[in-house]
Amino acid sequence: MSILVVGSVAFDTLKTPFGERTKILGGAATYFSLSASFFTKVRVVGVVGDDFTAEHEAVLTGRGIDTRGIERAAGKTFHWGGEYGDNLNEAKTNFTDLNVFENFAPKIPEAYSDTKILFLANIQPELQLDVRRKMPNVALVGGDTMNLWINIKRPELLETLKEVDILLINDTESKMLSGERSLVLAARSILTMGPKALVIKHGEYGATIFFADGTHPFRAPALPIAEVYDPTGAGDSFAGGFMGYIASQPELTPAVLKHAMFYGGVMGSFAVERFGPERLISLTRDEIEERFHLFRSLTHLD
Ligand code: AMP
Repeated sequence: MSILVVGSVAFDTLKTPFGERTKILGGAATYFSLSASFFTKVRVVGVVGDDFTAEHEAVLTGRGIDTRGIERAAGKTFHWGGEYGDNLNEAKTNFTDLNVFENFAPKIPEAYSDTKILFLANIQPELQLDVRRKMPNVALVGGDTMNLWINIKRPELLETLKEVDILLINDTESKMLSGERSLVLAARSILTMGPKALVIKHGEYGATIFFADGTHPFRAPALPIAEVYDPTGAGDSFAGGFMGYIASQPELTPAVLKHAMFYGGVMGSFAVERFGPERLISLTRDEIEERFHLFRSLTHLD
């Protein structure tokens, strides 16, 4: 089953303790699509400016990603500047230049109208909601957001959340969104806002899925990795592995969800090994399976 993702397609200017990069390919939808493309067909809705070259687009099409929904507008591509200190789990935003995303009115290509799974990757919540409303026949909606939108677009975000089935955010975001200090209370509060399931990502410590119907939560580990060069995109790559795996399965069962949590962790762990999306571009499905088994052996008793 194919997935449609809407979200930022961007240039990132990054600084980590291991180096710096200027205007490299990034964006939530970019990381999500590259990651999900190892599991299923991916369609992207977004906008780029005239500084986005054929080579940038080829990174996506090279993985079989359908980019017909990426509009080219006059102006500059979204540009995010961020850095990480010793705590690689927390990005500090230096600037967010929305550029062509400022006046973006999403159009869904006719060819995308049969999509059953939608992912609202990080971007202004009103754009997420607009795309959600233009896709009334989807069967499953995943979503993400970030501290900026929780702070400056809270009412719009709360409207969007009513239409999201599975929300994936990190510890800090879940506490900000709910106003709670405990993760369990934060999850309980967010699960009254619309989502039926909530995945809270704990960075290098794994991720937990909570359910609105009272089903017991499930936690997947993260692989302790020696080489974390650039955490950018880890969350989106997690979401891509998680949603991509779900889309590749005939039915959404509890076992599929648990496996999806592991595949999410696997994809996040690859993303951080190189700067930008480099590692996702060079990855193979065999490497993914190999690491999936490593993840299992981390927590499974014989
Ligand atoms: P993460 O997976 O959370 O590390 O997301 C990293 C990506 O989010 C980067 O490639 C950025 O281009 C993108 N990003 C940063 N800020 C925003 C924002 N306000 N809206 C949409 N995307 C963003």
